[in-house]
Amino acid sequence: MKLSPPEYVLSVKPYVPGKPMEELERDYGITDSIKLASNENPLGPSPMALDAIRDALGGLNRYPDGSCYSLVRKLSDRLGISPDTIVLGNGSDDIIGMLTRALLRPGDEAVMAQPSFAMYDIMTRLSGAKPVYVPLARMSVDLDAMAAAVTSRTRLVFLTNPNNPTGSIFSEDAFISFLGSISSDIVVVVDEAYIEFVRDPACAHAITFAAGERPVVVLRTFSKAFGLAGIRIGYGVMPAELALLLNRVRQPFNVNSLAQAAAMAAMDDDRFLNRTLEVVHNGLEYLYEELDRMGIAYVPTQANFLLVAVRRDADEVFEEFLRRGVIVRSMSSYGYPSHIRVTVGLPEENARFISVLKDIMQ
Ligand code: PMP
Repeated sequence: MKLSPPEYVLSVKPYVPGKPMEELERDYGITDSIKLASNENPLGPSPMALDAIRDALGGLNRYPDGSCYSLVRKLSDRLGISPDTIVLGNGSDDIIGMLTRALLRPGDEAVMAQPSFAMYDIMTRLSGAKPVYVPLARMSVDLDAMAAAVTSRTRLVFLTNPNNPTGSIFSEDAFISFLGSISSDIVVVVDEAYIEFVRDPACAHAITFAAGERPVVVLRTFSKAFGLAGIRIGYGVMPAELALLLNRVRQPFNVNSLAQAAAMAAMDDDRFLNRTLEVVHNGLEYLYEELDRMGIAYVPTQANFLLVAVRRDADEVFEEFLRRGVIVRSMSSYGYPSHIRVTVGLPEENARFISVLKDIMQ
């Protein structure tokens, strides 16, 4: 077979997801594994979302509302922004793809931190454009260096706040000064997938900038704090002109009807969101305390995951965790050969992580 795909497709390294529990249990003959690898919600889905999904099942013979009319209006009320600034996606991944398809030509550049979320790189390459990496400084997005990496070919900048995999944030002041230092034509994407978990009051919340004169885009997701990763729904907030452009490249029924119903209900499930934040924040305090006691360094985080310096080969440590039924993430492919990333789980899952880590580090 001679497929002859474009060079830029061949340049893509396929996204490596966290190992599914079923796969681990099949491969290792284990039964009680836990997954702390994909920054998912350990409490399960929002119960109100589950009820809404059950109620919506009978409508599955119909196509979903391609415009997500009710959900757009609900988000618009909640966020105090105009409905024509909101674009829904099949996960926020989908919005990243719409942005790169709508905006990038072969030869264009997209600036992104290294390491950060892998989909910016993949989607940029699929438009034949060039990802330009800017290393983190002290484990945080280096906004000055990101601004300095902008050239006349730059069309897009990806910022992640909090950043994945470090959990670091940037402040509103730093963001304003960043915007002031680059051309106002460049589309600045602020990926706020983990914003609900942030406790630092200095953290920038970019939505106020996304409905203004500048092409600023904020990405949000229902996959993390709302516990809906499996049903795939996220959104972008952006100037109406840009939202119209994204509608040209959007699949007509990109958000399925169960996802729309689930997201509407999850937005009202304050009890679930509060419990989630409590579990994550208490879990982090526990992990900090235990790691301090063991003398193991980590990067203080504003998200629901933690980068831990295991000071050993991260791939080996990952394997040792797997053998003991705990799925974490090796950060070697992110450029941290001796760090792992662990998602905050339920109290008993965090305790198991610490106990296995003690065992491995002995
Ligand atoms: N952005 C960041 C920074 C992420 O870590 C993730 C998920 N790992 C996403 C976006 C994608 O989220 P979604 O499930 O909404 O596609």
